[in-house]
Amino acid sequence: MKIETNFSLQAYNTFGVAATASAYAEVATKNDVLELYHLPYRPIYILGGGSNVLMLKDIEGIVLRNCLMGIEVLSEREGHVLVAVGAGENWHELVQWAIRQNLGGLENLSLIPGTVGAAPIQNIGAYGVELKDVFHSLEAFDFQKGTFRNFDRDACQFGYRYSIFKEAKNRHRFLITRVVLQLTRPPHPLQLSYGAIQETLKANGISRPGIREVGNVVESIRKSKLPDPKILKNAGSFFKNPEIESGQFDKLKEKYPEVPGYPTVAGQIKVAAGWLIEACGWKGKRHGRVGCHEKQALVIVNYGGASGAEIQELARAIQVSVKEKFGIYLEPEVNFWS
Ligand code: FAD
Ligand code: NAP
Repeated sequence: MKIETNFSLQAYNTFGVAATASAYAEVATKNDVLELYHLPYRPIYILGGGSNVLMLKDIEGIVLRNCLMGIEVLSEREGHVLVAVGAGENWHELVQWAIRQNLGGLENLSLIPGTVGAAPIQNIGAYGVELKDVFHSLEAFDFQKGTFRNFDRDACQFGYRYSIFKEAKNRHRFLITRVVLQLTRPPHPLQLSYGAIQETLKANGISRPGIREVGNVVESIRKSKLPDPKILKNAGSFFKNPEIESGQFDKLKEKYPEVPGYPTVAGQIKVAAGWLIEACGWKGKRHGRVGCHEKQALVIVNYGGASGAEIQELARAIQVSVKEKFGIYLEPEVNFWS
């Protein structure tokens, strides 16, 4: 394993922020992980595809990029297929592999950037499916104890864009090395509840979709409204959709009848953060080198050369105006590295 010093991370975060790591290593095997544990470099920062991080300054410590690869079918029983995936595999390539194998469960999560190892961190979700719906277990290395450990679904404590790994005390403590997913063959059932999926299937004349069609539709919707980080630097949704009490939502709805809200299993209402930001006039607005995307206000973009601090400043201004207008706090979804 090669350790590089004074390493530029600009190409390794989809915001394209120019930050440097005093040390950097790519970890491709479990032996690399153990070797790194015994080396004196600290603190450790864990990086996947860099599509959900905002680097606020240069990193004094070692950035460890997860490159553990491999896909293996472990078992197939009564329509359930267990698949173990190296945490460094690209998420969308895994989704495409699953669709080719006629394995169901991942199609709604098409085109999400990043690695498989990062997927459990915020329990990635899109179009009514979350990682937890297909999750079986994972293996992680604990840098505090120096041991590998398995986590089942309960141990991960998945929630809305949340897992135990997002807790402050666990950040960069556990390196997820392998994720085991439970998929279905034949694929069942399809999750088609989101309006955009239904409308696009209808517009394309598809009345009996399979996983391939659903994957294609999700890809085409995403391509039509989300900026491609290769072209316009961004980290997807900057904020989570806030979940508020139904009484508060009713009052909001009285004043703003068009505000979108969706009931959660916990009895709250999830409000579309993009709508709140747009209603404050931010959509398509540019402030110097940063701005709110013209098609989706929830996405903050770096037009080129912006620092992490400039991006954070715009995010704060958005938070202030949403709080003033609606009394709602927007919690960042993106992980700040400081
Ligand atoms: P990184 O950005 O590298 O890391 C994210 C966090 O996880 C960091 O704090 C890092 O320390 C930690 N981490 C990464 N890998 C590991 C590991 N192996 N072990 C322990 N900790 C680790 N997210 C969604 O949920 N749904 C979407 O639909 C979605 N769409 C997006 C669209 C765009 C255009 C973009 C740019 C982002 C989108 N995202 C979405 C956010 C992002 O793609 C996901 O959160 C993804 O899982 C991040 O993967 P990554 O490998 O890039 O993680
Ligand atoms: P959208 O369709 O414009 O909808 C806005 C919000 O309303 C979404 O965030 C979604 O919440 C919620 N929503 C819409 N229909 C719903 C339904 N039938 N039931 C429950 N909630 C519903 O959203 P979008 O921005 O184009 O994104 C589409 C999907 O891709 C969403 O699931 C979104 O989470 C995901 N996405 C995520 C990121 C990211 O970086 N995290 C980036 C782009 C897209 P949910 O977010 O809870 O689904």
